[in-house]
Amino acid sequence: MATRANATAGSIDDSEWTLLTGGQVIDGTGADPDSDSAVLVQGDRIAEVGPRDELDYPEDETEVVDVGDRTIMPGLIDAHTHITIYNHRTRGRFRLIDPRNTLAYNTIRATESAEAFIEGGVTTIRECCGRDFISVSVRDAIEEERLHGPRILPSGPLITITAGLDDKRPYFLDRNPANGWEVNGVDEVVQAVREHSKAGVSNIKLDASGAWTSFTDSKTPTMSERELAAAAEEARKFGITTACHAHDPVGIKNAARANVTSIEHGTYLDEEGLEIMLDNDIYLVPTLASVEYFTEHGDNFDMNDEQFQSIVDDLEAQKESVKMAKEAGIKVAVGASSEPPGLPHGSTWREMMHFVDLGFSPMEALVAGTQTAAELLGIENDVGTLEPGKSADVLVVDGDPLDDIEVFGREANPALVLKQGSVAVDNRPA
Ligand SMILES: [Zn+2]
Repeated sequence: MATRANATAGSIDDSEWTLLTGGQVIDGTGADPDSDSAVLVQGDRIAEVGPRDELDYPEDETEVVDVGDRTIMPGLIDAHTHITIYNHRTRGRFRLIDPRNTLAYNTIRATESAEAFIEGGVTTIRECCGRDFISVSVRDAIEEERLHGPRILPSGPLITITAGLDDKRPYFLDRNPANGWEVNGVDEVVQAVREHSKAGVSNIKLDASGAWTSFTDSKTPTMSERELAAAAEEARKFGITTACHAHDPVGIKNAARANVTSIEHGTYLDEEGLEIMLDNDIYLVPTLASVEYFTEHGDNFDMNDEQFQSIVDDLEAQKESVKMAKEAGIKVAVGASSEPPGLPHGSTWREMMHFVDLGFSPMEALVAGTQTAAELLGIENDVGTLEPGKSADVLVVDGDPLDDIEVFGREANPALVLKQGSVAVDNRPA
């Protein structure tokens, strides 16, 4: 197993073959855990998963890693996060002139954010909009092994309309595409998607509703169905997913009819919206963990009583939506929308904790943060489960998440993280 130069590597050395054995294996497909199973890694791929004595490998060339009574599972996938921290939303609405608000500062913070994910056992993230195309560059630098971080599926800035979610521009200033990428009408939407594709994104982030952070609140629709549909269609052409922020029921239906890949938040979901999502096979990424963080730490943020109440209302409605969606058979994926100084990066597991609170079994919550998230991102042939041929993105955790989903938050965790067969994190005691 190759070891990254700057990883906190333990005793695992540089072998081509590695056998992870000892603990229970949860493969991410929803199948029962198996305590007799072992995971065989060759290079950057999973070679086999099965009973240890039935696996075929060159014994003298294989590093055997006994993980003790820990759990071996796929690396977590976070389908909604923000690594560039660009809008300073918690410091007031129109703080355009913040001395830290430079691309350089945001880039530095983004590299730090990426590192926090891998340290938290998250081996893949979909970056759901940020400043400029910083996350594209961070992805590239990680792929070139210049930085420590997860696999990143980047978005560019949010594609929004005038008075939309990320339009914080006073009318007397020109549009600045490095922040919210402001467009109006189908032609501008199509052009924006093409620009983003050219810049190398994997995802387009759109908004169908406002939010407490913007001119337009969460109960009001923003981009029209026609604009959203144009974006989704154009993105599909380039093989890019679309993630649409939607809170209000009209916005949710606009996004669902527009056939976006996933609806983010889905706060005020009604029966009609549910039907359209089901018909069009649209995923829901609720981001409860981030919203709850704001309700619990409201005093730390610069928001007025009305804004605070709107988040509290949104969270309650969102929980109902998740229950409805699960009941109806809509695919729900994990995305925590961490965004310091709100929810810290790397705490993706907290979203799974909320799922369990809302009636998911711990296994269903794990699948939502592995296999289902991989399917949403369109990378299920490569990651999301421990199956032969897939990338060896493996997480070893102390304890049994099926017994207590909060084990991920223990200080000893993650015990070990492999990304593409290399040790990315090793916190096991020497
Ligand atoms: Zn978000």
